[in-house]
Order: sequence, then structure tokens, then C-alpha cells
Amino acid sequence: MTDRSKTRKIFVGGVAMGGGESVKIQSMTTTKTADVEKTLGQIGALFTAGCEIVRVAVADEADAAAMKTLAAKSPLPIVADIHFSPALAVAAIENGASKVRINPGNIGGEKEIKLVADCIKAHKIPVRVGANTGSIESSFLARYGRSAEALVESALYNVGILEKLGVEDIAISVKASSVPLTVNAYLLLANRCNYPLHLGVTEAGTTEAGIVKSAVGIGSLLLRGLGDTIRVSLTDDPVQEVYAAENILRACGLKEEYVEVISCPTCGRCEWDGMALAREVTEFVKPYKKKAKIAVMGCVVNGPGEAKDADLGIAGGKGGCLLFKKGEPFKKVSLAEARTAFFEELKGLLE
Ligand code: SF4
Repeated sequence: MTDRSKTRKIFVGGVAMGGGESVKIQSMTTTKTADVEKTLGQIGALFTAGCEIVRVAVADEADAAAMKTLAAKSPLPIVADIHFSPALAVAAIENGASKVRINPGNIGGEKEIKLVADCIKAHKIPVRVGANTGSIESSFLARYGRSAEALVESALYNVGILEKLGVEDIAISVKASSVPLTVNAYLLLANRCNYPLHLGVTEAGTTEAGIVKSAVGIGSLLLRGLGDTIRVSLTDDPVQEVYAAENILRACGLKEEYVEVISCPTCGRCEWDGMALAREVTEFVKPYKKKAKIAVMGCVVNGPGEAKDADLGIAGGKGGCLLFKKGEPFKKVSLAEARTAFFEELKGLLE
């Protein structure tokens, strides 16, 4: 199965995932969940940035109790992340979690798992089974080592426990901090089931390295047609995760309603400061949710030709700049007039 239209569709609150729905952006709060004010503040910031589903850690009774207010006031459906405690899982669900992330294998014995599964079914919410390299059962580690096979077998073992108890709305993730291992695990997993997949590279690192690892890992899977939700894990403000996830979806051609700015790297032919204008234009177009392509190019020799598909472009030269649409020049301005003239055209196009 390498086609996201064929995964089972499930709902996290009012947000659909799987079954060919658009790929949703997830993130996770970094506040103490029980600090309702701070947590809601961060959820609000994530929502504004474009996050569609948010996960919170439920580590103790205070966190589980806070779920009631969070679920009532959050603009996003909340996934409660629980380890080891069936009581916390049940409390989080009863207090309004739209989804839980658990691994049945570490929630307790048969009786405890059944208690949680019954609660999941009664509240008609989905569950994510998340295997990562740190949570692989020892039997699979002994058999397969820290490998894609071990991750997949561990995830499917946990899924099997839920299936036997009649839970059907399941999403799965198989994350590692190694990009090749993560990608191989998802590819293997996709051939074994049609549950919706939550993609991510775990412990990806701080911003720069984390974004690159996530873009390569998540992006390569998305381009193969896999993935129903994504999370970019960064050791940073989670709002940065959302921006990065949005950019990955755009780069993969899965989000089109935005203004793309293309600019050349410049070379020895460049005779003006096109880089400064490219940065300014990139900031300017951010709020516009409209499909358009804008080009800022270093030279008039190659610029209009290299950016032939741009709706509006500018290319600099020694004596001035050329403004062009779809590769066709329509105005020549001096270097001093270039910025003002270009922004005038840009505003006209976007507004
Ligand atoms: S558009 Fe011109 S300045 Fe930019 S990389 Fe191409 S040749 Fe060089």
C-alpha cells in the first residue's frame, strides 16, 4: 500500500485523517499540561501557526484532570499521550481527549488493556500506537536488532492487542532518530496494513539539523504517497515545528494555496542586491493564502528565462531591472526605482 487514499479514514475530533484526506499537521505542547493557562496559550499559538492536531503529555493525575478544561477551550483536537498508566488513559479520555497515544504493551496486563480499550470504544475516539526505537519490546530486539523490522513488528504487536479487543480506529507511527531507519520502517509497515500513518523522525535535534532530517524523512515518504499526519520534532518552540511541517507539505506539492518565492542563488553575472529583495518579498507574501509564484532573479540575461513560470518576476542588471510576467518583460526600471515598482506590481497581483 503506497497510496494515502487507501488508508482507513479516522477522525480526531472534527479533523479527518487517512482515506485520501489532506495530510494534517501535528505538534506537541512543551508546557506542563496541568498548567492550563500556559498550555492553552501554546495551543493557541500552534493553532494560529497552522497546526491541526495537538498532542499533550498526560504524566500524572493533575495533567489528566486538566484535560477537561483543555478539551473544552482548545481550538484544536487534543491527543493525550500516556505511558504505563491505564488509570490516566481512562481519565484523559473521560475528560475529553479526542485521541490517545498509547502502547498497549506498556499499559499493563490484559485486564488493564481491556479497561482502556473499552473506554476508547465507548467514547468513539481513535488511538495511535507509536513505536520508536526506544520502546521496542525486548523479544523483537533480540530477534531483529534495532531495525526497521523490529519497529514494525513491535507496532503491529501492539496494534494486534487492540484489534483483539475490538478497537478499529487506529493510527500508527514507527519513528527513529535515523532517517533511513525511519523511512524503511514506514515502507515496510505500509505493506502490512492500511491504518493511517503518522509520520515523523523522532529526536531529530535542534532547529537546523532537525528540519533537514525531518524534511528528508517525512518528505521522501510523502512523495511516495505515504503519510496522513506529520510532525516535525524539534528541540525548539513547537510553533517552529508547524512552520517546518507546512514548508515540507508545500515542497512536496501537497499544499498549493500559498505564494511561492523563487530566487536564484546568484553568480558572477549578478550586478545588484537581489538577495535583500528576495528576503523582503518572502516575508511580505507570508500572510497570503493564494496560489502564486514570484521570482527574484540575479540577472536579466538568464533570470526571465529561468523563471518562466513565475506570475511576476524581477531580474537585475547593471543599468536597472526588468519586471516580467511568465518570462515576458513588461517594464524596465532603474535600480533606484526597482523595489518600489516591484512591490506596486506585487500588491496589485496579490490584493
Ligand atoms: S539568474 Fe543570472 S545571476 Fe542568477 S544564477 Fe542564473 S545566471 Fe546567475
